[in-house]
Amino acid sequence: MTVETNQAVQEATQPAQAPVKKRVFSGIQPTNNVHLGNYLGAIRNWVETQDQYDNIFCIVDLHAITLPIDPKELHINTRKLAALYLACGLDTRYCKLFVQSHVRQHAEIQWLLNCYTPMGWLNRMTQFKTKAGEDMDSVGAGLYCYPVLMAGDILLYQTHYVPVGDDQRQHVEMTRDLAQRINSLYGKQIFTIPEAQIRTTGARIMSLEDPTKKMSKSDPNPNAYITLLDDPKTIKKKIARATTDSERLVKFDPARPGITNLLSIYQILTGQTQEVIEAEFEGKGYGDFKAALTDRLVETLSPIQQRYQEIISDMPALENLLKQGADDLRPLAERTTEKMKRAIGLG
Ligand code: ATP
Ligand code: MG
Repeated sequence: MTVETNQAVQEATQPAQAPVKKRVFSGIQPTNNVHLGNYLGAIRNWVETQDQYDNIFCIVDLHAITLPIDPKELHINTRKLAALYLACGLDTRYCKLFVQSHVRQHAEIQWLLNCYTPMGWLNRMTQFKTKAGEDMDSVGAGLYCYPVLMAGDILLYQTHYVPVGDDQRQHVEMTRDLAQRINSLYGKQIFTIPEAQIRTTGARIMSLEDPTKKMSKSDPNPNAYITLLDDPKTIKKKIARATTDSERLVKFDPARPGITNLLSIYQILTGQTQEVIEAEFEGKGYGDFKAALTDRLVETLSPIQQRYQEIISDMPALENLLKQGADDLRPLAERTTEKMKRAIGLG
């Protein structure tokens, strides 16, 4: 037997090695209640493809303090968000879940990255302008540096893909630029260059009150969003009062953002095409359509709410799971931070 055939026999008899999965990282801020936009733009997509990737999903509490937040609310929201991640279907066989502040390297790497981020890049970030509004001079510097903290979150774990809603596209682009800048400055592959994963549907769910604005947790008007924990009566009320127009035609039309937003939500929940949906409501009014949409929402959210109640009622198990997630991830976060510190000449 020649050496080659020996190897061939060995390869044929040994189990094939599983291909290494690409890494996914994403997160949500534990500010206020998770809404339909967060679900359709982010969580639902994470769940759908979780078995294909090596996933890390974070509760980004350091981001949540970029605007004022009550300490007790932050603490409980952090746990509630973890319970919702699980209730929506994230499975710890495929995902690590953890709280950002439990891994100190997020704060450490942000300082390092801050020193390499041109002010001009941060000045261009539209989220800062929207969130700071008229208070540009009085908001904390953390809100301005938010994209750098987010870059650190992603880069610490050598992430390949970042599944997010459309509003985060600009921040992921900046993360790529920053990683490329540092890698080329030191002539080393310190960071993997990540890519945003943004779906064509659901990436920008609009406010129910003002459909020209995105649905946001921080919206002061709770009628602007459906939360994942809203009961059927509340969902019915919010959908009934959702802004539409006086045309009364149930058709997708970019010139009529209110009805188009509601139709897009219906389209994602039913998986039907625009044509099928328009045919379903031909000759019918907004009342019929809104009733059908309410039914679909209740149908989607009820099982999530049931699972959520079970998970949140076992707080020690939840705390344990989050501790385990942080313990598992810390070594990689440490390695990446050390790599960057060595390249810079620190230590
Ligand atoms: P906040 O107002 O506190 O910033 P938010 O609603 O924007 O809250 P985040 O925690 O900032 O929520 O974002 C979590 C994830 O949800 C991100 O991936 C973001 O892109 C996505 N997302 C947020 N709002 C929407 C939306 N309206 N439609 C689709 N995806 C969204
Ligand atoms: Mg946001």
